[in-house]
Amino acid sequence: MRIDLHAHSNASDGTDSPAELVAAAVAAGLDVVALTDHDTVSGHAEATAAVRALPAGSRLTLVPGAELSCHTDGISLHLLAYLFDPAEPAFAQERELVRTDRFRRGRAVVERCRELGAPITWEQVERIAGAGSVGRPHIASALVEAGVVATVSDAFTADWLANGGRADVRKHETDPVEAVRLVRAAGGVPVFAHPGAVKRGRTVSDGTIAGLAAAGLAALEVDHMDHDEETRAHLRGLAADLGLLTTGSSDYHGSRKTVRLGEHTTDPEVYEALLAQATGAAPVTG
Ligand code: AMP
Ligand code: FE
Ligand code: FE
Ligand code: ZN
Repeated sequence: MRIDLHAHSNASDGTDSPAELVAAAVAAGLDVVALTDHDTVSGHAEATAAVRALPAGSRLTLVPGAELSCHTDGISLHLLAYLFDPAEPAFAQERELVRTDRFRRGRAVVERCRELGAPITWEQVERIAGAGSVGRPHIASALVEAGVVATVSDAFTADWLANGGRADVRKHETDPVEAVRLVRAAGGVPVFAHPGAVKRGRTVSDGTIAGLAAAGLAALEVDHMDHDEETRAHLRGLAADLGLLTTGSSDYHGSRKTVRLGEHTTDPEVYEALLAQATGAAPVTG
């Protein structure tokens, strides 16, 4: 079983449509893929239809999810949520709040970039983002188009879009303890995404992770491209101490990142244990 529990479509900052993501997951030989767009479930319907339309013999399972933008102690972090009820009002309202503020913040980031001499426009960013939940990677793509930087990751430096960078503007982000509770109350399973991704800025303390565990966190995403071996070993030890499961996933973003689908995967027993905790929605099979 090859299980990849973290992938983005163009419903947020990935480049594949949800249907293309499903096709890419089949092509990559995955058995399970989770669709985890930032702060939105808007890709679920298309991905579900694509899985149901797969030819007999394809055995891909889709795990509907999302990746929530959170913030605590001056640090931004991401919480993966799987198999929650997308109609549960409290959690739906919080996602809506974050998505709405992404537009205000996106315009402000573009304004900062222009003041700093980058010839990009909000119309350009809107075109790149399409219907997707707008984020810094779309603005990074605009900076690449304008010839300001060579690649999307080159835009994530102190000069431009990195946390605390010259053109970084904060958006509304949920307190992670509150987010864990919202996900559980909607029947979902919360997993801390790339908790040790130091290249994105400061990371939260082990004490903060213990607080999330106490609030209902299910697992830490340990095997991730942004974690070195030492970080993984530390997180595995912490998870064992706190009674948390550990997952692995690609955090695929299509052509906006170099990582491939299935580059990191989750153990089948861990996947089954996560499924057993979900009451808000069921995985989708063909
Ligand atoms: P936003 O949600 O708009 O604040 O943007 C955060 C997103 O930017 C993350 O989900 C990643 O897709 C991307 N990102 C953050 N840091 C980096 C980085 N150092 N290199 C490339 N992409 C990054
Ligand atoms: Fe992203
Ligand atoms: Fe993330
Ligand atoms: Zn992600």
